[in-house]
Amino acid sequence: MTAALGDNSLGFIIDRVDVGILVVTENLEVVLWNRFMEANSKVAAETIVGANLLESFPDLPGKWLEKKVRSVQLLNNFAFTSWQQRPYLFHFQHHRPITGGVTHMYQNCTFIPFEGSEGESLVCITLFDVTDTAISQREVQQAHADLEELSNRDPLTGIYNRRFMETELDKEFKRVRRHGGKLSVLFLDLDFFKKVNDTYGHQAGDQVLIEVTQRINEIARVTDCLARYGGEEFAIILPETDTSGGLIFANRVRELIEKTPVHYGEHVIALTASLGLSEYYEGLESHDVLLDQSDKALYEAKKQGRNRVVCYLPDM
Ligand code: GH3
Ligand code: MG
Ligand code: MG
Repeated sequence: MTAALGDNSLGFIIDRVDVGILVVTENLEVVLWNRFMEANSKVAAETIVGANLLESFPDLPGKWLEKKVRSVQLLNNFAFTSWQQRPYLFHFQHHRPITGGVTHMYQNCTFIPFEGSEGESLVCITLFDVTDTAISQREVQQAHADLEELSNRDPLTGIYNRRFMETELDKEFKRVRRHGGKLSVLFLDLDFFKKVNDTYGHQAGDQVLIEVTQRINEIARVTDCLARYGGEEFAIILPETDTSGGLIFANRVRELIEKTPVHYGEHVIALTASLGLSEYYEGLESHDVLLDQSDKALYEAKKQGRNRVVCYLPDM
């Protein structure tokens, strides 16, 4: 600090700087309150100087603040808190027009202990408005989450894709192997779907896939994981479900598809599906084997004449 700066100039700078500055005693009595604090809190310096900070601002995290002030004085060292740890110290409005739901000013704070002119123990608290940084960081995080969600989905039907389903099945498989419980996997393939495309066109085929997905979703449990495994082939993970429960569900799906044709323009497209079911048992090496067994059961359902459910048997 240069000698050319007198008390007036320092006061001027403290007031003009775009940072909140306040000084408190060890009992949290306010000694200094700059213009940033006045403007944002709507409390004038002449009102608050000499008063207790927590009594004037009952919303402040009192216990935390007392501890913080005491600890910086005790250690005689700076402390810093970022908005990620504590979004704000003082609940101030921010001044941005568009903030995507953010209503308060995010703040980074520093706590600086120092000795007053009469040897008293004081702490200077500074408040930096970091709302812009916080908002853009939150937007980036949200975009990340949205992208990740999108990358797990099939674009046509909106249900999970094969990659996500296999990851989920692997997790579920390991959980059951470790902790016990039931787990089944159901494969579904639409019968003669090529004929739907050939007769009514590819767009009609797409519409069928969308509507069949909706129908399965209507009767599946929220904990079931429905995925588009390939073209017109779907896989459904059925947690906490054994073969008898899986059979009931699979037949309900099969009947629903059979009795609800898809309307496309003036066409009424009748559909059937074949389904293969397999259940987890002790000694199964991996989730891949479970998938493979459901696939074999599905193949068997096709072989036996389609529009049916077949459970996996070891001789398939
Ligand atoms: P099967 O009863 O043996 O299952 O006969 P299929 O005709 O259903 O079986 P196949 O595997 O011969 O034909 C599947 C058809 O699914 C062929 C392909 O054009 C169609 N398909 C795959 N993905 C899509 C898609 O995203 N949209 C449309 N419209 N058709 C698709
Ligand atoms: Mg098919
Ligand atoms: Mg197929």
